[in-house]
Amino acid sequence: MTWSPELPRVTVFSLGGTIAMTGSGHGVKPTLAAADLIKGVAGLDGVARLDAQAMFAAPSVDLTYADIAKVAAAIGEALAGGADGVVVTQGTDTLEETAFLLDLLLPAGAPVVVTGAMRNPTLAGADGPANLLAAVRVAASPDAAGLGVVVVANDEIHAARYVRKLHVSRPSSFASPTLGPIGWIVEDRVRIALRPASPTPTLDWSDPAPLVPLLTVSFSMDARELAALDHPEVCGAVIAGAGSGHVPSAFVEPLEALADRLPVILASRVGAGETYRQTYAYAGGEIDLVRRKLIPGGYLDPAKARILLTLLLGAGADRSRIAEVFAGV
Ligand code: ASP
Repeated sequence: MTWSPELPRVTVFSLGGTIAMTGSGHGVKPTLAAADLIKGVAGLDGVARLDAQAMFAAPSVDLTYADIAKVAAAIGEALAGGADGVVVTQGTDTLEETAFLLDLLLPAGAPVVVTGAMRNPTLAGADGPANLLAAVRVAASPDAAGLGVVVVANDEIHAARYVRKLHVSRPSSFASPTLGPIGWIVEDRVRIALRPASPTPTLDWSDPAPLVPLLTVSFSMDARELAALDHPEVCGAVIAGAGSGHVPSAFVEPLEALADRLPVILASRVGAGETYRQTYAYAGGEIDLVRRKLIPGGYLDPAKARILLTLLLGAGADRSRIAEVFAGV
C-alpha cells in the first residue's frame, strides 16, 4: 500500500482469533498475521499509514496474562516510536477481558482499540474487514485519545471496562449492558458521544499471575463446591453471586472463613448493573456478606473483577487498597 505522509500512523497488532482464521472444509484455525489482515480492506489506505506487527496466532482462550503484558509493552513502544494510535486484533471469546487488562496496564493516552470478528474470513458476510476498518478509523482519530482502551465492533465503540460478549455468533455480539456504547462510526466519521468520568487505575504486571479462581453461584448449589477455592496457592477469589450479589445461606460460614484469609470479591453473575451494599439483610445477602469481609465488586462483571484483583494482588496490594480500588474504579 502507498500512503499519504499526512495520514496518521496506526500500528496493527495481530494475536489470532476468528478474524485471522482460515481453513478448507474441516474447520478454521488462526493463520493470518496483521499484514494479511490489512491487505485488501477497501478504503483502509485512505485512513492511516499502517504498521503491521504479528504477535500471536492463538485462539483467544489460550492468551495469558504474560501474553497481554507483552502486547501492552509493544503498544508502549509503538506509541513511543511515533504511532498515533494502535489496533489489536484478536479472538472475541476473551476480548472483553484482554481489553480490560490492557486498559489497566496502559495509561489513558493515544487511542488503543481492540477488535475481532464473529464470522471468519471463509464465511459470507465476514465482519473482520469492516471491524478492522472501523477500528483503524477510531485509532487514527484524535477524538478517541484519553478514553482508555476501547473495543470497536459492528460500528460501535465500547469502553473496555463495560463491554461484554453477549451472543455466541452474531456480529452484534458486543454490547455494554450497563451503559451502552460510548460512540460509533458512520461513513468515515468517528463519533465519541460519551467520555468515561475518570480513568481506570494504571497497574503494573509482575509474573507469575497469582491464582484467583472465579466461582459462579447457581440454583440449589451445594457448599461443597466452595472446596475448589480452598487451595493453598489461591491468593484471592471472585464470587459471581446471584442477583445483586447473593449466595446460598450454606455458603456464608465457609466464605467468611475464606474472606478472613484472602480478599474475596463479591460480583454479580448478572453481568449488568452494580452490586448492592445495603438492601438485603438475610444470611447470604450482600449486607451479611460485606459484614463478613467480602469486597463489593461494584459494576465490574465477574471476569473483569478477577482481572483487577489478579493485578492488584500481583502488585502486592493489601485488603484495604483492594477495597479502595474496587470502590473507586
Ligand atoms: N474462538 C475464537 C477466539 O476467541 C472466537 C473469535 O475469535 O470470535 O479465538
